[in-house]
Amino acid sequence: MERLPSGILRVEVPLPIESLGSVNVYVLSDGEPWLVDAGIYTARAARQLLRGLREAGIRPCDLAGVVVTHFHVDHMTLAPVLAELGSPRLLIGRGDLAVLESGVEDFIDRVLELYTWSGMPREEAEKIRRHHPAVRMMEAYREALELDWRPLGEGDLLRAGGLELRVVEAPGHTPGHILLYGDGLLFTGDTVLPGITPHVVLHGVDEDPLGSYLESLKRVEAMAPALGLPGHRGVLRDPAARAREIREHHEKRLRGLHELLQRRGPLTGYEAARLMRWRTRYSSWDEYPPAERFFAVGEALAHLRHLEARGQAERLERDGLLAWRAL
Ligand SMILES: [Zn+2]
Repeated sequence: MERLPSGILRVEVPLPIESLGSVNVYVLSDGEPWLVDAGIYTARAARQLLRGLREAGIRPCDLAGVVVTHFHVDHMTLAPVLAELGSPRLLIGRGDLAVLESGVEDFIDRVLELYTWSGMPREEAEKIRRHHPAVRMMEAYREALELDWRPLGEGDLLRAGGLELRVVEAPGHTPGHILLYGDGLLFTGDTVLPGITPHVVLHGVDEDPLGSYLESLKRVEAMAPALGLPGHRGVLRDPAARAREIREHHEKRLRGLHELLQRRGPLTGYEAARLMRWRTRYSSWDEYPPAERFFAVGEALAHLRHLEARGQAERLERDGLLAWRAL
């Protein structure tokens, strides 16, 4: 457990997701205790979080509220357990509440449908579905849905654990991702992470999540918070600089992909994913496990779709498959 300014404690909750290792749950301990993010629905995670609370001298039944930055399994699925131990208020961004209410399973099915339309073989999409953490954690989502989640939107003020936090909508990593800002501290969720670039996947062909994400990063740069408290890994000493770095990474990606389209002609999202270079320990596409393929195709599509939004590519259908060509 790490003690941070303003009575905030960082508890590292273990994840069964090898590439991430752990998720940060922040305990706001001044005044009525609150949590920012809840962790994942596993016995190990529950035990680690309860141990952290005990070290902080907080009884789980005294938690006044839990606010989650986004709906992903590693950040919110432990909330039903906390709700069982007390009666905390439960808050989430309104965009992600809409995803929860319309069904996370449907959300993933729609995404995989889009991937199949983008050239991913059906068996591969089916395999990804079976392995997807959200599908495996569906029970926890169903339990979470039975609870009384309240939506947060841009500009809402949250008084939690002695802090006054302003809600900043930061769509991109998820449609309804939120940041919390107060006292020079920014809870960044997975919008800005140290050392890793958060995934941005296309979830609907008419959406432009990468465009939204780049705008969200610009907002973090403009806020220039003194300290960033991310969803994974250690604190960010200069969140604005990290946000700019991630934005530049995507700009470079976009230029590379545009050149690829110019060189190779129209490409589906699946073809683009296979041709793009990924920072991974696997040497060929065939070695990629389902989760890596899910993110690679989703990211390729998000970049293709954003090139279209910028007027640098055009969407077309080729042999019944969704593709883009350079403009
Ligand atoms: Zn995460």
